Amino acid sequence: PLVLGIETSCDETGVGLVRGTTLLANTVASSVEEHARFGGVVPEVASRAHLEAMTPTVERALRDAGVRFSDVDAVAVTAGPGLAGALLVGVAAAKAYALGLGVPLYGVNHLAAHVAVDQLEHGPLPKPSIALLVSGGHSSLLLVPDVASDVISLGSTVDDAAGEAFDKVARVLGLPFPGGPHIDRAATGGSGDAVAFPRGKYDDGTLDFSFSGLKTAVARWVEARERAGTPVPVADVAASFQEAVVDVLTRKAVQACRRYDVRDLLIGGGVAANSRLRALARERCEAAGIRLRVPRPGLCTDNGAMIAALGAELVAAGVDPSRHDIPADSSMPVTAVHV
Ligand code: ATP
Ligand code: MG
Ligand code: FE
Repeated sequence: PLVLGIETSCDETGVGLVRGTTLLANTVASSVEEHARFGGVVPEVASRAHLEAMTPTVERALRDAGVRFSDVDAVAVTAGPGLAGALLVGVAAAKAYALGLGVPLYGVNHLAAHVAVDQLEHGPLPKPSIALLVSGGHSSLLLVPDVASDVISLGSTVDDAAGEAFDKVARVLGLPFPGGPHIDRAATGGSGDAVAFPRGKYDDGTLDFSFSGLKTAVARWVEARERAGTPVPVADVAASFQEAVVDVLTRKAVQACRRYDVRDLLIGGGVAANSRLRALARERCEAAGIRLRVPRPGLCTDNGAMIAALGAELVAAGVDPSRHDIPADSSMPVTAVHV
């Protein structure tokens, strides 16, 4: 069956077309440039941008895939979590498409979709897998017995998400929003052990994370330099901050695999695009005998293919479609895979 996936939880209007685990189109329109001057996503601006981008993006995805509306067998949409007004645009559009085409509707979880998307690249997810989900709004370790029905949270951040920390530190360093990719790039010219930044919850025995102390430590370090009139070594600070984040993330991901005796680790979400995270995870998984899966960067950041991928998984699993009156749920928990 051909599944149309619609994603509007933040500032990307994403439309994907997936048949089984085959990716046919992944078309993304982003309003990120409209938010850049505010240093963060402005919800009202995002909602309006989704409204304007929806129809053209769906039409472009169909063209990209070389299919027609009448070929679509099911519609999947992000039901949550995310910005309420932004989600609402996608959910309303998906209901209209499903009703108009006379096909079932699946309201799916954005976070579970960040996990499910990897199947488009690396095939069926081993059952169970451990997933490290690291994005702009979330940072969690998950036990995933079955991404279509059963996702268990093992730990998560007690304050900032990893992506949020990247974005805030980028701001401190005068790098543009969203900061993650800019820190990644700046760090290539610096040394990860130039500055010994603190690693929150490093040895606390939990599978939780904490990044706000690190973010504050970087801000203090940079301020002290600026007060003293000494130039800030941006590349070294970026690399040292990044090293602190990915050190903790990969350490706890490996601990989770050991603790639950799981041999397969998947990393998903926007921060999974980070080159140092990918490299260190590869190194540590190899040493620990863990098989690692990380989707290509274009599938890590928000997109419609991930929603279509999870929708296709639900269709294949014979899950009942959603009702046509499902709400958008801005705080949908990661444990609720679909509605
Ligand atoms: P959530 O998925 O929690 O709802 P979101 O959808 O806004 O949040 P994603 O699109 O999944 O977030 O991820 C965006 C985040 O990923 C941003 O914080 C961004 O800075 C970060 N990011 C993107 N690329 C990189 C990179 N190369 N290195 C580090 N961080 C990155
Ligand atoms: Mg975004
Ligand atoms: Fe996301």
